[in-house]
Amino acid sequence: MEKTPRIKTILTEKPLNRDICVQGWLKSKRDSKGLSFLDLTDGSSLSGLQVIAPETLANYHTDVSRLSTGCAIAARGQLVASPAKGQEVELHAREIIVYGWAPPESYPLQKKRHSFEFLRSVAHLRGRTNSLGAVARVRSRLSWAIQQFFQQRGFFQIHTPVITTSDCEGAGEMFTVTSLDLQQLPLANGAVDFSRDFFGRPASLTVSGQLEAEAYALALGNVYTFGPTFRAENSNTSRHLAEFWMLEPEMAFCDLEGDMDLAEELLKFLIADCLANCAEELELFSRFIDKDLPARLDNVLRHDFVRLSYTDAVKELEQSGREFTFPVAWGIDLQSEHERYLAETLFQRPVIVIDYPKTIKPFYMRVNDDNKTVAAMDILFPGIGEIIGGSQREERLEVLSARMEEAGIDLASYQWYLDLRRYGTVPHAGFGLGFERMIQFATGMANIRDVIAFPRTPGSTAM
Ligand code: ATP
Ligand code: MN
Repeated sequence: MEKTPRIKTILTEKPLNRDICVQGWLKSKRDSKGLSFLDLTDGSSLSGLQVIAPETLANYHTDVSRLSTGCAIAARGQLVASPAKGQEVELHAREIIVYGWAPPESYPLQKKRHSFEFLRSVAHLRGRTNSLGAVARVRSRLSWAIQQFFQQRGFFQIHTPVITTSDCEGAGEMFTVTSLDLQQLPLANGAVDFSRDFFGRPASLTVSGQLEAEAYALALGNVYTFGPTFRAENSNTSRHLAEFWMLEPEMAFCDLEGDMDLAEELLKFLIADCLANCAEELELFSRFIDKDLPARLDNVLRHDFVRLSYTDAVKELEQSGREFTFPVAWGIDLQSEHERYLAETLFQRPVIVIDYPKTIKPFYMRVNDDNKTVAAMDILFPGIGEIIGGSQREERLEVLSARMEEAGIDLASYQWYLDLRRYGTVPHAGFGLGFERMIQFATGMANIRDVIAFPRTPGSTAM
């Protein structure tokens, strides 16, 4: 097929008075005397290209006059300066080819605005709308910006496995992967005999690539893994997906402070990149989704993040005079309402809470000298709550194995992880950034289901 320029390029470079051909989908059509105005998009930018189709076209009455929203066409003609308001250039068509019709009586998307709930029911088509198309472009840009950030700083990307036999945080939240026939499970002593399963033992979808990333941090220094992760938790909230993307950097010769510095630098980099490269999309979100978006993005860039200990955070919450649904006391896990009070009400900017009680954090976090807290850090964002969870890792063999035993973890299947402490152990640290929560913050989208193409949530795979 003929290679045609993308509409974004045409709108930027404006190759006037030259013959060009564009291909795309019709956003809308308006008929006037002797001609039709076609608003054409090809997905490359929010703005479409206005195409003017005169009734002198050979197929005007047979084809062009029947076009409707969603039809796929090619238009060939000259690009000229537009006399009308609202666009700088327009294409005067000499030829229009119809690739695909979209009968208006059944095509679900019309020119009017649809609710996000409705659009979720047509997840396979919603990328064609202004808002979901814009989200997809921001998502792609942020993904690229992540790669740039780490590659510029000498980090190596590791592709950690999606199928895992090591359970990072707790068996209840994992999806089992099996090739056994569920109708006819092999039993041994009344339990499923996993020795006859594909891997010879229970396997599941990963909840985090961290442990594997640690192995490579202790070989290549600074690494990151960025890919899908899975949680079978039944959290039907606007911040949880069953399948989501996580970015997990891991750094050798690094402590908690270095970890926080990197995380803060990364979040600021991503927002600055988005402002510089997705201006058109952000303007749409500010106009239709969240009018405070520019101020909230700017607020992150302009301020140092607040850093305070869990113990001080609890004091602040206790002194707030607020009635929380979950009462506050030293030792509790912070709930979303607490996180939001700190980031939105009290400090009104991102907050990093460090040194959580060791009883509420996983075994791999480094125990502090007080023997009560661990070198953990959560970054709380206004409007989002926890966007990053990280820690300095326990690098001392004895302390780590003692904590694993306490947590009831089967040491036999973690010998490889303990080896990293047996041989050439070093202080190291890392964190996990929920990619969809980052996109939510950057776009102002209220529901996490609307920042991933085909959301997987309890009871739904969106198609
Ligand atoms: P939360 O308390 O919000 O459920 P978590 O503490 O279980 O999150 P971590 O295990 O620390 O999450 O994962 C690291 C990051 O991954 C979180 O800070 C968050 O941004 C993101 N994340 C965690 N669970 C989900 C999920 N179910 N859907 C989307 N993002 C998630
Ligand atoms: Mn967390």
